[in-house]
Amino acid sequence: MSENDRLISTGPRKEDEDIETSLRPHTLREYVGQDKVKSSLDIYIRAALSRRDALDHILLYGPPGLGKTTLACIVAAEMGQNIRVTSGPAIERPGDLASILTNLTAGDVLFIDEIHRLSRAVEEVLYPAMEDYALDIMIGKGPTARSIRLDLPKFTLIGATTRAGQLSAPLRDRFGITFRLEMYSPEDLATIINRSAGILKVACDQDGLYEIARRSRGTPRIANRMLKRVRDFAQVRGDGCITLSIAREGLDMLDVDELGLDKVDRAILAALC
Ligand code: ADP
Repeated sequence: MSENDRLISTGPRKEDEDIETSLRPHTLREYVGQDKVKSSLDIYIRAALSRRDALDHILLYGPPGLGKTTLACIVAAEMGQNIRVTSGPAIERPGDLASILTNLTAGDVLFIDEIHRLSRAVEEVLYPAMEDYALDIMIGKGPTARSIRLDLPKFTLIGATTRAGQLSAPLRDRFGITFRLEMYSPEDLATIINRSAGILKVACDQDGLYEIARRSRGTPRIANRMLKRVRDFAQVRGDGCITLSIAREGLDMLDVDELGLDKVDRAILAALC
């Protein structure tokens, strides 16, 4: 079994893409938990809006599935701007980044997921773009080569990483705002599952919600995935409503225990013991 096939894997999956998009909150108010991050962001967004200026560059870090992409989309929506989404491994050459940057319009948000995976050469294009909103282009080769500077529109870069330690110091220093996303409490996860159940039109009682929340390892992506699986179980084995016993039976059948550990976790722990 590959890591990503596990129900409790935190990485995104192709088959969950549609559902993830439909379950994404669109405003800060709808975004559950992460209260400190939300209240700071709210202030920065209001200040930038009142100055009619672009927001400072933001670095989001924390484990996968905690809502970094969601938060970036919310920032763009709250600023009333478009978002362009890409990722570190997708930007292979400096020219790829140059073409993305020159296609931005003033105020746009550029979201780069897994930003720690940018190559050094690409990072170097990013430095003047972040600092001076400029792109340095080399024309010609050898002794006749010269560099010209193109002005870029004022944009906001939002970088997301699961490994802040792997980010180079010059890149890290160019972000004006840095937030670390924390794991969610069972109460926050229950609120997220309740909201998702409403969107998916699944009946759920309070105890059923909490049972899924407790086993979701503090991660909204896992909580939403478990809800989807338990919904099927409730339809076939019950009357469609996710109750405590349906949630327990469903998750036990999927081999996820009360602590959110699956077969692989238990085997690793047993081997360590
Ligand atoms: P990341 O980019 O950190 O891997 P995502 O932003 O893709 O995580 O979030 C994964 C899923 O979890 C999304 O479908 C989103 O709906 C849900 N989610 C994440 N954070 C929250 C939150 N704070 N409130 C509600 N749903 C959330």
